[in-house]
Amino acid sequence: MYKLHDLAYSIDALEPVISSRTLEIHHGRHLQAYVDNLNKLVPGTEFETLGLEDTVRRSSGAIFNNAGQVLNHNLYFGQFCAPGASEPDMASPLLKQITAQWGSLDAFKEEFAAKGVSLFGSGWVWLSADKDGSLVITQEAGASNPVVKGLKPVLTFDVWEHAYYLDYQNRRPAHLAALWEILDWKVLEARYQA
Ligand code: MN
Repeated sequence: MYKLHDLAYSIDALEPVISSRTLEIHHGRHLQAYVDNLNKLVPGTEFETLGLEDTVRRSSGAIFNNAGQVLNHNLYFGQFCAPGASEPDMASPLLKQITAQWGSLDAFKEEFAAKGVSLFGSGWVWLSADKDGSLVITQEAGASNPVVKGLKPVLTFDVWEHAYYLDYQNRRPAHLAALWEILDWKVLEARYQA
């Protein structure tokens, strides 16, 4: 059985970037619903004993959509901390790789946010690593995740409207620009080096 992952911070910890109301609904209702759906769908299937990532890699249809959304949201909610509580370590392997590929952290942020803004409809923008440690930005529609492409997810922005509509209405660019303030760079670094 899948369980809703607890948040590692209080419900108002991400304000004003993400309000407690948005967090309550996004985590407590949207993600809970994906968890509940997945628990109804997998019993009696080949996915019952597979881990979440392998289920996403091998499934399709409703199981893929719900498993993907559980994996995506676990990574999404797991990468945040209070505004200003974490700073990137420019000497770390992840930040060195970012600056090697994009020239600067700001140039990377600009491209990443632009890919989130230009993603049509509902989906996710991802920073992932390949087997050699090179980084790649991908846009994934719907519930998809870079693990289906053999990539290791490091960072993601959820661009489904439910992620920002209460706080930002249609202003997706403003929401994505604000998310940089609440990233826990230690979490991203650990994912990259795992
Ligand atoms: Mn979402």
